[in-house]
Amino acid sequence: MDPVGVAAAPDAGPGPAWRTKCPWGAPNTTSISCSLADVMSEQLAKELQLEEENAAFPEVVAVAEGPFITGENVDTSSDLMLAQMLQMEFDREYDAQLRREEKKINGDSKVSISFENYRKVHPYDSDSSEDEVDWQDTRHDPYRADKPTTTPRKGFIGKGKDITTKHDEVVCGRKNTARMENFAPEFQVGDGIGMDLKLSNQVFNALKQHAYSEERRSARLHEKKEHSTAEKAVDPKTRLLLYKMVNAGMLETITGCISTGKESVVFHAYGGNTTEDKVIPPECAIKVFKTTLNEFKNRDKYIKDDYRFKDRFSKLNPRKIIRMWAEKEMHNLTRMQNAGIPCPQVVILKKHVLVMSFIGQDQVPAPKLKDVTLSSEDMKKAYYQVLNMMQQLYKECNLVHADLSEYNMLWHDGKVWLIDVSQSVEPTHPHGLEFLFRDCRNVSQFFQKGGVAEALKERELFNAVSGLNITADNEVDFQEEIEALEKMNEDHVQNHGKKLSMFSSDGDPPIYDE
Ligand code: ADP
Ligand code: MN
Repeated sequence: MDPVGVAAAPDAGPGPAWRTKCPWGAPNTTSISCSLADVMSEQLAKELQLEEENAAFPEVVAVAEGPFITGENVDTSSDLMLAQMLQMEFDREYDAQLRREEKKINGDSKVSISFENYRKVHPYDSDSSEDEVDWQDTRHDPYRADKPTTTPRKGFIGKGKDITTKHDEVVCGRKNTARMENFAPEFQVGDGIGMDLKLSNQVFNALKQHAYSEERRSARLHEKKEHSTAEKAVDPKTRLLLYKMVNAGMLETITGCISTGKESVVFHAYGGNTTEDKVIPPECAIKVFKTTLNEFKNRDKYIKDDYRFKDRFSKLNPRKIIRMWAEKEMHNLTRMQNAGIPCPQVVILKKHVLVMSFIGQDQVPAPKLKDVTLSSEDMKKAYYQVLNMMQQLYKECNLVHADLSEYNMLWHDGKVWLIDVSQSVEPTHPHGLEFLFRDCRNVSQFFQKGGVAEALKERELFNAVSGLNITADNEVDFQEEIEALEKMNEDHVQNHGKKLSMFSSDGDPPIYDE
């Protein structure tokens, strides 16, 4: 014990001299003063964030571009629930109010007007679990688009619910009824507009709110359909991007949607004018990577460990990561194109929208291998072609497809075309060989089931594609060897900071071109 140190501690303050004198007091004191400040600022930050979220509440629930997409508050599930509970509470109160209004308006009249349709919590729709699942998928932005123009509120709403002159009430009521016409066309306002119906501001506003939430709901339902229209399947910003492409003459018309997947929506378009520096194919496929994040979170592992994108990944927000998927698909398609593998030809990439040549004809996309019935001769031909392409992909493009199956191979012009390569990785990706093995399994099983007797079994196919010679005679050992190889490569990277080919047994190393 050092009595000087103890005595000095309380009043000496955290000066450097004191710190050297008091070996046990210093770190404690330092950490306390430090963490207090931290706590304060963190709390402040949390408060600010909460405030921001509350302020943005309607958008948060309804719009794909709320704070969620910035990635700053990914873990807000409980806040969301809270918000939804509050909303439910609000809805209930609102419905009760609506019922009172209804009663008041109808009075003793023989003809009564029902507000049933304007209730927030529909009797048949009180289960909002569906909303919880799908809210992020809502593309339509009812809060920003085409709000009906209103005369300034001041004058009739400023005084609360006591509107003094009768004249005002009637005029406003009629005005409000007329303004119902501004609601979305699919929103049923009944024939109130034709009648001399007067709606109080309160009721009108409530109806307006309801109209918006109805719009949202119908957008959601619409989105679920397999083939949604070009208009509704993308958010306004994407729509603008597409319009610009048409405006610039690059595309002639966007005819419709070919496919709505979890991660992308694909449209068909007729190509526009070919310019000196850009050849536009007569028919194009437009792949729009979805800007909602649910599905992409699961794909982190593909891109996070891809060293080509490693440095960039950590600094990016989710929106940029989605652009990176599009970018990745573009780069990979270009590599394949250069190797002569049949695949869509890249036309242009704009943000998260990739335009490429259309595989198919007259708006009819080429069938997926899983949907086409081939003669046994064609099946065999297809198999050898796929085997060849897998080898080319690996050796010449230095890529593993990583989602290769009969779903991502199209049959067109008597041959197989590879598509959907946004998730493709280089063989030295930490899971690259596992992905390759999975691809091999899919391909092998498909062609064996399809009656191609020559089709290699998955392990043989893996060796044939990779040039490796893994000898394990059962699946478990085989996988273990694969993982051991991956680990070896990772260790090598750790030690040398650079990827090196160690997989090729035949002196034909993958090309590292980036
Ligand atoms: P996803 O990630 O949604 O599976 P894909 O790239 O596989 O995205 O595209 C989805 C579907 O769209 C494909 O199965 C195919 O039917 C169609 N498709 C995509 N690209 C093209 C193209 N270039 N030409 C014709 N059809 C295409
Ligand atoms: Mn696909």
